[in-house]
Amino acid sequence: MSDNCLFCKIVRGEIPADILYEDDDLLAFRDISPQAPVHFLVIPKKHVHGPSSVEAADEQLIGRLMRKGAEIAKKEGADHFRVVFNNGEQAGQTVFHIHMHILGGRDMSWPPG
Ligand code: 5GP
Ligand code: ZN
Repeated sequence: MSDNCLFCKIVRGEIPADILYEDDDLLAFRDISPQAPVHFLVIPKKHVHGPSSVEAADEQLIGRLMRKGAEIAKKEGADHFRVVFNNGEQAGQTVFHIHMHILGGRDMSWPPG
């Protein structure tokens, strides 16, 4: 847990979120500024700064996060979806608590901007 981290505050229930899934280790909630008809974030409850900070001990956790995200996407009606992890400011990371974006429900272009 990190006191001033936005997503830790969501984990602690200090900031409301539209929660899609929660268990002891993971939380999934809709993005506040959706970029597609389906756009939600999956995070570990444990504070990890970003993809570059994932340690060997987190491998199972991040694997579960991926599997859970795919399961929720299907429930949300998005069989085809884009998975995004931004790492660092230049890549577009604005919240420094690792999060997996899942976007679906529309055609996606490639490469991303
Ligand atoms: P990043 O740019 O770090 O990859 O993604 C952060 C995401 O968090 C953005 O898509 C942004 O819309 C979302 N976000 C920022 N603040 C909040 C919030 O308070 N609640 C929710 N649900 N999403 C947020
Ligand atoms: Zn955090």
